Amino acid sequence: MKILIAEDDLSFRRFMEKKLTAWGFEAVIAEDGNEALQILQSDDSPRLALLDWIMPGLEGVEVCRIVREKKEEAYKYIIMLTSQRRDSDIITGMEAGADDYIMKPFKHNELRLRLRAGRRIIELQNELLAARDMFRTKASHDALTGLWNHGEIVEILSHELARAKREKNSVGVIMADIDFFKKINDTHGHLAGDMVLRLTAGKMLSMMRAYDFIGCYGGEEFLVILPECSLEYASAFAERLRLSVSSDSIDTPEGMISITLSFGVAASSNDRLKDAYSLINAADKALYRAKENGRNCVEVAPADGAMA
Ligand code: GH3
Ligand code: MG
Ligand code: MG
Ligand code: MG
Repeated sequence: MKILIAEDDLSFRRFMEKKLTAWGFEAVIAEDGNEALQILQSDDSPRLALLDWIMPGLEGVEVCRIVREKKEEAYKYIIMLTSQRRDSDIITGMEAGADDYIMKPFKHNELRLRLRAGRRIIELQNELLAARDMFRTKASHDALTGLWNHGEIVEILSHELARAKREKNSVGVIMADIDFFKKINDTHGHLAGDMVLRLTAGKMLSMMRAYDFIGCYGGEEFLVILPECSLEYASAFAERLRLSVSSDSIDTPEGMISITLSFGVAASSNDRLKDAYSLINAADKALYRAKENGRNCVEVAPADGAMA
């Protein structure tokens, strides 16, 4: 683990660097308070810091106060080094946000134990952040396909529509549904069906631009959101998806399985389709027409003024 040592006294700095390196830390050195602050505010900053109280430029306690003001997500554990013995100084240091302090001169083992406590706090916080990220991902993604889940993709659409309104752009929406998927389950089993869903989702995802979105709207229904996109582009893109998915069969333990999808397309350039509900509804109706028209095809929502 990296550790910052901010200390203006050269011999003490050298001594600390040696000790901390021997204890398995990767020492990062600052010779004054300004340098310490710069290092603590850098992208890859150490999470543990030993700050001398009295240094040229910014004092250790000031560095600590500025770091705490930022309320960063990745916590920095700060130990103040001080030769000041007044209780009021210690209170000042702790109020500035220091986690601990140690008086010079100190016993090496004491410093080592205090650093161990700091390291434990940082490691615990890392575990908490990782767990939080994992739960966030689980709460927003479909477990089988890994795509955005229903709630999230609808929210993304609302967000993109609000942005499109500000920037006077159009958002394209594609609703896609696998044809006769029940028959695939019935013929090859649900596990093979799951695999078909996962691989189809992955294939469509690989065809998206970096700023497009695809989510799992229902079991075998997908919602694609194309920001800054006209109805013409959206329907051409749906056609590309259709061709790509239907052209290769999928290799499963139950044998090669071929599928097709039907698509319904709408775009917010249509004056009637400015909100998420109307847009999804229009794409859904177009999808039903694609099913009625024999499946494995793309249908587009009627233009402004035309009857749905
Ligand atoms: P259509 O062409 O009209 O869309 O026919 P379909 O059979 O695809 O449509 P239907 O809505 O009747 O059936 C959808 C099927 O998708 C039924 C359901 O068992 C299956 N399904 C939904 N979610 C999953 C899933 O996560 N895994 C698997 N294996 N099947 C699923
Ligand atoms: Mg000093
Ligand atoms: Mg279906
Ligand atoms: Mg369906």
